[in-house]
Amino acid sequence: MNKIDKKLIDKSLSNKKNNKKLLTKITLKNKKKIDQIFEIEHQKEFENRDCLECANCCKTTSPIFRDKDIKRISSFLKIKERELINDLLFLDKENDYVLKNSPCSFLNHDNTCIIYNVRPLACKEYPHTNRKKMHQIIDLTLENSTICPAVSNIISNILN
Ligand code: SF4
Ligand code: SF4
Repeated sequence: MNKIDKKLIDKSLSNKKNNKKLLTKITLKNKKKIDQIFEIEHQKEFENRDCLECANCCKTTSPIFRDKDIKRISSFLKIKERELINDLLFLDKENDYVLKNSPCSFLNHDNTCIIYNVRPLACKEYPHTNRKKMHQIIDLTLENSTICPAVSNIISNILN
């Protein structure tokens, strides 16, 4: 991760409490418009961002692997679903399959993903800043702002 992105993450970590207060206020005030507000900032952010220079999400967190993901990935790898589960995954407190280790075992040294075309839906949708009903995932978004520099920037632009 470059220095600018590192600073964005540090800023989100130190402002987490205040950001939560401000973002909750803005969200409650603009419940109907909040998805559009995030969508605009998301588009602006990712137009100028190359995730291959970062991959902090793949290095530090785990996506959820749904049954459909496990099926698709194991078929692509030509291994049994049970083998994929036993080797790489475990059931977390919410009873979701997540990675045993980080960085993700499918991450290459150049930050590309070995299973990119069949990756879990959660990877495809990360960092979830262009979703519908953003007001329901404000806490998750704030959490992601301490992992993903793009989310940190998106929140900062919305708050300013
Ligand atoms: S989604 Fe965020 S954390 Fe993941 S690679 Fe892109 S900028 Fe980095
Ligand atoms: S499956 Fe691919 S995109 Fe998803 S966390 Fe692993 S390396 Fe990243």
